[in-house]
Amino acid sequence: MRIGILSDVHANLEALEAVLVHVEEQRHDALVSLGDFVGYGPDPNNCVTRLHQRGLRAKVVGNHDLAAIGARPIDDFNLLAQEAIVWTQRHLSVEAREYLAALPERDEIDGVLLVHGSPRLPVDEYILDARTARASFAADAFRIAFVGHTHVPAIFEEARHRVRLAEWLPAIPKPLPPGHRYIINVGSVGQPRDSNRDAAYVLFDTEEATVTLFRVPYDVAATQRKMEAAMLPVPLIERLAVGR
Ligand code: ZN
Repeated sequence: MRIGILSDVHANLEALEAVLVHVEEQRHDALVSLGDFVGYGPDPNNCVTRLHQRGLRAKVVGNHDLAAIGARPIDDFNLLAQEAIVWTQRHLSVEAREYLAALPERDEIDGVLLVHGSPRLPVDEYILDARTARASFAADAFRIAFVGHTHVPAIFEEARHRVRLAEWLPAIPKPLPPGHRYIINVGSVGQPRDSNRDAAYVLFDTEEATVTLFRVPYDVAATQRKMEAAMLPVPLIERLAVGR
């Protein structure tokens, strides 16, 4: 099975559409989302509707999704994120709200764990280094887990009880040998933060046992114009152009 794995769309419809076109060309069998459908961007309802129509085989909730439906407090968000969440709360449709409210914290596909943050703390924990990854490898018995949340693509590999950040170049299938364990961050569709403005997503081929990171250019200026019209915070508009 070839599974397209998206995360952190963050209400960026132009980025989402570009990724959906790209993944269609990859002969994928299923699509899954790792949460943060909304927050930051100007198209929360359209992004939820688009993914709902397209059909997700598995999906989990993100911290911004929960904040947008009022299911968690926002005081631990930074001020810009708070402002965007309040905007999203005001603009979210009843249908989008219901869709987000029904999302689980964990899901799986083909025996692989799916969470937004980390296997240890599924919604909120950021795995930014091998040390944090090690805690999640110890906390749960998964062999492969896919995560999002940091907006930075990464593969953490556990082999012979050592955890390291593996090298991962875009567009080249990366083998996942048996016996090794993995936490794979698929990056962000709608707000990349690894100094690359192109939308990120991953294709996981279960038969070949490979993961491929793709970067997909999209019309950043179109999203920025919509954010300006919506009067979303300027730093959130600017960061899209530099992928930070
Ligand atoms: Zn996010």
